[in-house]
Amino acid sequence: MTEADDKAAVSRSFPCPDCKKPLRRIEGKMGPFWGCSGFPECRRTLNDVEGKPSEKVDEHYRCPICTRRMVRAAPEKGDYWFCSGFSRGCKITLKDHNGRPEPAFRCPSCGQLLAKRKGKNGEFWGCSGYPDCSSSFNDLDGKPDL
Ligand SMILES: [Zn+2]
Ligand SMILES: [Zn+2]
Ligand SMILES: [Zn+2]
Repeated sequence: MTEADDKAAVSRSFPCPDCKKPLRRIEGKMGPFWGCSGFPECRRTLNDVEGKPSEKVDEHYRCPICTRRMVRAAPEKGDYWFCSGFSRGCKITLKDHNGRPEPAFRCPSCGQLLAKRKGKNGEFWGCSGYPDCSSSFNDLDGKPDL
């Protein structure tokens, strides 16, 4: 790489919030993220949000199991989102909720998704691993009371 290429790469990049060295986009096992080029001196990492480093987690658009990006299915296939890790064995799909994947929560005992169910005493969250896993949680403002 020439010095000019190097400068071009740096001007397109984002500085580390800690040490101001450029951040690098890294394809991790759990999806892309940004790490500091000053590694290992600086171990700062940031989440990848729409291709840019951010401290925010766009959790509505992430697979709740493997944290890869959720992708909206083609309209003719229906109103749902699927995990971009599909070809790598993650079969998670989430219903569409006003243009976003429906929030999903993991069972703290077995790591599978919780599903909202209707019971005699109102709505609750049961583990999708039922009957192998019988965890269930009360509903608290649309979220499981973990
Ligand atoms: Zn840094
Ligand atoms: Zn996934
Ligand atoms: Zn479970």
